Amino acid sequence: TRTPVNVTVTGAAGQIGYALLFRIASGHLLGADVPVKLRLLEIPQGLKAAEGTAMELDDCAFPLLRGIDISDDPNVAFDGANVALLVGARPRTKGMERGDLLEANGGIFKPQGAAINAHAADDIKVLVVGNPANTNALIAQAAAPDVPRERFTAMTRLDHNRAISQLAQKTGVPVSEIRKLTIWGNHSATQYPDIFHAEVAGKNAAEAVSDEQWLADTFIPTVAKRGAAIIEARGASSAASAANAAIDHVHTWVNGTADGNWTSMGIPSDGSYGVPEGLISSFPVTTKDGTYEIVQGLEINDFSRTRIDASVKELEEEREAVRGLGLL
Ligand code: NDP
Repeated sequence: TRTPVNVTVTGAAGQIGYALLFRIASGHLLGADVPVKLRLLEIPQGLKAAEGTAMELDDCAFPLLRGIDISDDPNVAFDGANVALLVGARPRTKGMERGDLLEANGGIFKPQGAAINAHAADDIKVLVVGNPANTNALIAQAAAPDVPRERFTAMTRLDHNRAISQLAQKTGVPVSEIRKLTIWGNHSATQYPDIFHAEVAGKNAAEAVSDEQWLADTFIPTVAKRGAAIIEARGASSAASAANAAIDHVHTWVNGTADGNWTSMGIPSDGSYGVPEGLISSFPVTTKDGTYEIVQGLEINDFSRTRIDASVKELEEEREAVRGLGLL
């Protein structure tokens, strides 16, 4: 029998947590034959609700779920963690300046990074979901100098999945026929969903669409503003699709991309494609055996270059701001 994998989830009592935990426990994160132990981290006010969720998890009698621990102490919650999903974050409230938001999140992600550094398992993989995800990942990474830096990643998979779905609808193919789509940059309104290297049923996507106006005026803004459109329609945020994307991100990282395809992940830049080294930016990546590589050699046209640069500039500004706060 396999040793259970320890999966730590922060903000476990939140909306995304509620959509996420049951799928982790039922084997969708790592595989249908991998037992898991859940470690739930919440702030003190969230502990009781987390206990309620744990009761429901018990009541599902998931065969793969080998235990649930709940704590408000990161040193306990990250102890022995193999996978960490950092979901809990400080939401931007009305009138809050970006500096205040980054500072509040520094107070969350810095101690979590330190706890990961001190207590997580050697093979720890971290996915940051809580916003601003890329920069929160940078803060946690900076506080974990002993963890290989490529283990800190940020989620752009929801943007990736949203873009695939929009492109499939536009071209009238099933989503399974869309390959090699890329999200570049920040998980924010400046993100750039790139179809110039994507394929629709084996044909180049930009040629299949052949409509630059749709690309610029419909596709890109629809993908970037989807979260707001869902809040407007549902009266609540896109928690289930965010949780699904977190599952996809980790599952792909651990189990690999298919031949002839890639995915998008926010990862520390090695300088590829002119993205300054160290920024946690979204790239096209292939994954294999728990590691990832940036897809190299893609030709970047002017349309893409401008948009990638704009998103990367925003990431640089966020990095400067957290540097100014002494968080890096
Ligand atoms: P959610 O579970 O809905 O969201 C959590 C975070 O995920 C937010 O930062 C949110 O960003 C982000 N997010 C990323 N993508 C999406 C998406 N597509 N849709 C919605 N959110 C997205 O928030 P809740 O307020 O329901 O729950 C947060 C929980 O975290 C609370 O229970 C709170 O107690 C806890 N918390 C725990 C901490 C800890 O464990 N130390 C620290 C802070 C909070 P955005 O704000 O941009 O929507």
